[in-house]
Amino acid sequence: MISKRFCIALFCVLALIFTGCTQVSSGDKAPASEKTEAKQETTVPATDGKTPKQEPAKPAADAKTSKQETANPSADGKTQTQGTAKPPADANPQKPALPYVIAADDFSNLQLSDAVHPVYDAHTLSERTSLGLPVVLPALAPYCSGKTAYLTFDDGPDDEVTPVILDILAANKVKATFYVTGLHAAAYPDTIRRMVAEGHAVGNHSYDHDYDRLYTSPDAFLYEMEQTDEILHDILGFRPLILRAPGGTFSHFTSEYEACLKENGYAEHDWNVSSADTAPDNPTAQDFIDNISSQTSGGKESAIILMHCSSGHEETARALPEIIRVLRESGYRFGVVTPMTPQPW
Ligand SMILES: [Zn+2]
Repeated sequence: MISKRFCIALFCVLALIFTGCTQVSSGDKAPASEKTEAKQETTVPATDGKTPKQEPAKPAADAKTSKQETANPSADGKTQTQGTAKPPADANPQKPALPYVIAADDFSNLQLSDAVHPVYDAHTLSERTSLGLPVVLPALAPYCSGKTAYLTFDDGPDDEVTPVILDILAANKVKATFYVTGLHAAAYPDTIRRMVAEGHAVGNHSYDHDYDRLYTSPDAFLYEMEQTDEILHDILGFRPLILRAPGGTFSHFTSEYEACLKENGYAEHDWNVSSADTAPDNPTAQDFIDNISSQTSGGKESAIILMHCSSGHEETARALPEIIRVLRESGYRFGVVTPMTPQPW
């Protein structure tokens, strides 16, 4: 019995020892496994790091959301684009509805501060007279806004050279002035409308450029101006206040002509730079470029440049891109002729 009890006791002791050893050994291992766990924890933090990252992964999902928000913004962008589309609608009231200014009945709005907007009159001269409206222009301060080049094209329009010139001006974002004859305007009314729609100034250059009839007397000159005004008014609904005397005033005008134009509210501008594109010896585009370049190299503040856009002036159109480039390089901005344009001399 004793030996049985001893055996049982011994078994129990051995069992306890064995269990204890196991616990100890597992306890020994435990730190290792703790280390492992610690490592795992270290990893866990990494995992946790992943978790945060995963949480950011939610954010990543959020990020997607935020991307979606970004996408939304892009969707908003569309909205903004639409919003941008709105500004134009909003901008419309600010933006002059028209690329030109129509003179007030009393001419009170003609003192503009820039050389960008052409000026027209809704009334012909005879309408003004019959309505009892003023005819004489008020005293206007000339533009003084730095070096300005006024590209002027006389004798048009036609249906070959003028459209090419208009295309070049549009491509270069340059506004110019076209002194047209009534005869050509009546033949190409769509080109006249295009000039005005694209922000260019249209000026009066007589009916048919016939010096013999035109310079018979101031009244004869005035008659042709009114004749051309009527044609332009029929096409556009308004008429120019600016004109250029065919051939220039120098060899044609007397003081009576100047007084006549002043009494009737016309602003005449000759030129102080000539491309000489009507020279008789078949000049080429390079000649016009050189002529304009040399005449503007002295730094004229206001360069009123004479060119022509009627049939046969293909070389003028060919020279135009380089003329624009040279003038820009010399520091010129481009303006359109109005009653505020300084006289060239
Ligand atoms: Zn001419």
